Amino acid sequence: MILPVLTYPYPILAQCADPVEQITPELRALAQDILETMYSKEGLGLAAPQVGVSKRLIVVDVSGPDKREDARILINPVIVSACGLIESNEGCLSVLNYRTKVQRSKQIRVQALGLDGAALEFDAEGMLAICLQHEIDHLNGLLFIDHVSRLKRSLYEQKLKKWIKSKPEKQA
Ligand SMILES: [Zn+2]
Repeated sequence: MILPVLTYPYPILAQCADPVEQITPELRALAQDILETMYSKEGLGLAAPQVGVSKRLIVVDVSGPDKREDARILINPVIVSACGLIESNEGCLSVLNYRTKVQRSKQIRVQALGLDGAALEFDAEGMLAICLQHEIDHLNGLLFIDHVSRLKRSLYEQKLKKWIKSKPEKQA
């Protein structure tokens, strides 16, 4: 099922999400819905808070948006180490009409649980590392626009205000 994606400044996007305590059939169904939603919007990643569920669950697939070969569903993901710096040009399904450069760690090591409850630990670099950092940020109530300068941020806020005024019915 394709779910509506909430957009900034929807309050749940700024909240720290709760850890997943138990992997229930409902959680598995939610994960599939989030994956399906991400594919339908041609995204590379999506986090549960973006569909209104404040739980620590993310999905990523950097083989896309046209391919769908590397889906990863991660529960309670944590970055346990990071090194190097890389600049990425980011956008977000929850931040309308905006892309900007963000500094990220170049390589990261991630621990998480899989949907089957098995502990996972892996290294990521390049686009996968960037995407994982972006999605894990969502679990901590952070958006990529929280990483940019105050000036860039206020320019975006101004644009957004005008945009909301011109299309009020589009806001979820
Ligand atoms: Zn995002």
